[in-house]
Amino acid sequence: MDNWDLTSLQRVLEETVQNTIGEAEKGQVPSYIPELARQEKRRLGVSVCLKDGSVFSAGDAHLPFTLQSISKTFSLMVALCEHGERYVFERVGKEPTGDPFNSIIKLETIKPHKPLNPMINAGAIAVAGMIPGGSVEERLEKIMRLLRKMTGNPDLRVNDEMYQSEKQTADRNRALAYFLKDSRILDGDVEETLDLYFRHCSIEVTTVEVARLAAILAADGYDIASKEQLFPREVARICKTFMVTCGMYNASGEFAIDVGIPAKSGVAGGIMAAVPQRMGLGVFGPALDDKGNSVAGVKLLQKLSDLWDLSIF
Ligand code: GLU
Repeated sequence: MDNWDLTSLQRVLEETVQNTIGEAEKGQVPSYIPELARQEKRRLGVSVCLKDGSVFSAGDAHLPFTLQSISKTFSLMVALCEHGERYVFERVGKEPTGDPFNSIIKLETIKPHKPLNPMINAGAIAVAGMIPGGSVEERLEKIMRLLRKMTGNPDLRVNDEMYQSEKQTADRNRALAYFLKDSRILDGDVEETLDLYFRHCSIEVTTVEVARLAAILAADGYDIASKEQLFPREVARICKTFMVTCGMYNASGEFAIDVGIPAKSGVAGGIMAAVPQRMGLGVFGPALDDKGNSVAGVKLLQKLSDLWDLSIF
């Protein structure tokens, strides 16, 4: 259904949020980052960005939240644009892990000790290490510049409380990073690379912005708003493939069957879903299931996928 009746599109979004928000009761907000633990559980917002750039939203679409793991897609994009595929994939793999996103176990047991993919924490920290620049600020700016262009929001910023909260409670990520340094996957100053990683995870957005990011991925890097190709098609293809194989943590297989849209979630409850050549979706629902995905967010995407026949498979 691509000849959208826009009034019914808006109605469907509102009704679907209304009859899905109760799912939030089945999940929990994460407790390992204090700033995330303060989020209110019963929230659900969705935005859809169509091919022509128009955006429709319902529910808590204007509430800010942090990108968290969704940002890993864009640090990967910057690393691929700066260094090319060969360099990046010499240092990080292309396979799903079957382990939790912050697991350390395979780093030691698999040889060479490179992280299995860029969507797990170890892989994303390795990717952060590849972003060049003279200071953390300069390196972060490379990611921010891309995200500001894609979202059309020049004021996009890092949520400082979230960043501090992550930094102060990041012993697990620190352990991953020092292991990567010991294995020669990370060069340079480990604390600076961790700092870059915490900051890009703490970039604040709304579902409207996430839907725009997704729409540009769906359009293979073409931004209808600026009429510019913002990154090469090949880079979009690689990112979307990782979204299918490892974007929804250890539930990526189940999500592919039930929803069938390339998607990346984050522990703040966001999900970015890119329906190739059709639309981008941004969803926010802070209560997570035991795999780390927004419970109500996944359900909402499943309902919309069924209704609008969005599965790519
Ligand atoms: N900043 C979070 C962490 O490092 C990101 C995790 C996520 O969203 O999956 O634990």
